[in-house]
Amino acid sequence: MTERVTIPIAEQRYDTALPYVPESQQAPTGRLIDARGRPLHDLRVSVTDRCNFRCGYCMPKSVFDRDYAFLPQSSLLRFEEIERIVKVFVSHGVEKVRLTGGEPLLRKDLEKLIERLARLTTVNARALDLTLTSNGSLLTRKAAALRDAGLQRLTVSLDALDDDVFRAMNDVDFPVCDVLDGIDAAAKAGFRSIKINMVVKRGVNDHQILPMAKHFRGSGHVLRFIEFMDVGASNGWRLDDVMPSRDVVGAIHAVFPLEPIAAQYGGEVAARWRYLDGSGEIGVISSVTEPFCTDCSRARLSTEGRLYTCLFAASGHDLRGLLRGGASDGQLAGAIAHLWQSRADRYSEIRSSQTQGLRKIEMSYIGG
Ligand code: SAM
Ligand code: SF4
Ligand code: SF4
Repeated sequence: MTERVTIPIAEQRYDTALPYVPESQQAPTGRLIDARGRPLHDLRVSVTDRCNFRCGYCMPKSVFDRDYAFLPQSSLLRFEEIERIVKVFVSHGVEKVRLTGGEPLLRKDLEKLIERLARLTTVNARALDLTLTSNGSLLTRKAAALRDAGLQRLTVSLDALDDDVFRAMNDVDFPVCDVLDGIDAAAKAGFRSIKINMVVKRGVNDHQILPMAKHFRGSGHVLRFIEFMDVGASNGWRLDDVMPSRDVVGAIHAVFPLEPIAAQYGGEVAARWRYLDGSGEIGVISSVTEPFCTDCSRARLSTEGRLYTCLFAASGHDLRGLLRGGASDGQLAGAIAHLWQSRADRYSEIRSSQTQGLRKIEMSYIGG
């Protein structure tokens, strides 16, 4: 009998101490630059560690089973707490916020959080760029309400068009037609941009690359192919299972010719390609074969308010403790500034023997 490995969230947390910022000390405001010269630009906020799917590369059933200890409700950041932390990040120059999880649409009343965040403006007096990543399973029901709450952009994860392959990958037998209907519902609701994320796992869904490209070209939605990453400690990652993005681009280019296009902004994770016949563009996210740590401008806030400065970080920083302990906005801003300014993460660039055996936090907790 194989031994079941469970890594409850409580055992995954390794906090490093936050600096004490006296109330009297003026917190630095404005843009923050880390120890490698990278500005803080994006914040990803995980609103739940729970999910109704069990994708093997993220929340394999063998680990995330019915005995798995998900976070209790009282541990979750409340909406007003998330809003307060986001405001402090915005005062430090953050322009883009992505809500994620787990499956963010499982969080009760999420529209109320979106309403709060959608009205924030950046230090340059522009509307905050607010977006959300979802597995699409609840979108047919929720797309209109999300749009009404002020969400303008959306990313839907979809790993295959073939129903059998998709059901096997989500591992809860969820049909692909319901996600496709959800994407259509989002388009009807008037989202300004809809992106589709496909994680490619060699030998599992690489034969779905072309059908997916064919389906979404000309739709106005940008399909992005993500290399299978070694996030967390439970997905059994092996380099052999990674399909390099250059092979994905090569396979599509052979049938639908492509040309590269420039990034829209510094630090954009996806390299962009457009179809020569004008039927849209695709993106590839090559965190394994072409790491982009040099430009990485993202911070991550976990479901219970821990701040991580890298997707592969082993430890986080307890902002919720500060918040609930009565810290002022200035003290929060000071702590965040200290953390970002001392950040030197570059996991994907040094991924190799140096990173093997490192303890890492799970993607569903930290937010993808
Ligand atoms: N549940 C939502 C979803 O699936 O879109 C949001 C959270 S999910 C963790 C965010 C993104 O991370 C998804 O696009 C998912 O496919 C991707 N992801 C999860 N595990 C991954 C892995 N091991 N390698 C690459 N991408 C991964
Ligand atoms: Fe759930 Fe998203 Fe992870 Fe799949 S990738 S298990 S949908 S959180
Ligand atoms: Fe950023 Fe860490 Fe990913 Fe490098 S490995 S791109 S530092 S999140």
